[in-house]
Amino acid sequence: MTPVLDPVDDPTLVPFLEQAVRLASANVTEDGQLPFAALVVRDGRVVATGVNTALRDDDLTAHAEVVAVREAARALGTMDLSGAVVVANCEPCPQCRSTAALAGIATIAFPVDREAAVAAGFVLPPPAARLQDLLREQVPEGLRYVPMAGADAPFDAWSRGPAAG
Ligand SMILES: [Zn+2]
Repeated sequence: MTPVLDPVDDPTLVPFLEQAVRLASANVTEDGQLPFAALVVRDGRVVATGVNTALRDDDLTAHAEVVAVREAARALGTMDLSGAVVVANCEPCPQCRSTAALAGIATIAFPVDREAAVAAGFVLPPPAARLQDLLREQVPEGLRYVPMAGADAPFDAWSRGPAAG
């Protein structure tokens, strides 16, 4: 059974969450890509951003959080991103949680949970879903689920069709 994710309130994260949502929507409407984006935030400023380019690149490692962590490491000239937070528009998959963890990032914040992503048609393959369950259960402190109005906009854009805008 999927462990329950507790929502939290964190106003300091909202501007970053809103930026992630805007980038994810634009990734659909402007580039025809999947509705996912992420930021790496450290000391209150955005170090790097990333969007999902898996469709364009036929690359399932090109998730937004992975791209953002990669860009942040390049921007800062170090693979140690301790103290940073990944802010994404959706609950991370196991690959993205692991990538952040490898960079020393303990926390990923997001306004839309996995259940909403599944409802929008984004279903992880069963082995990945099991890993996601395990991470929710075993490392729940790394997940900051901050529900927010308007956070479904990227999925809505996707449901209208990538080219429709
Ligand atoms: Zn991912």
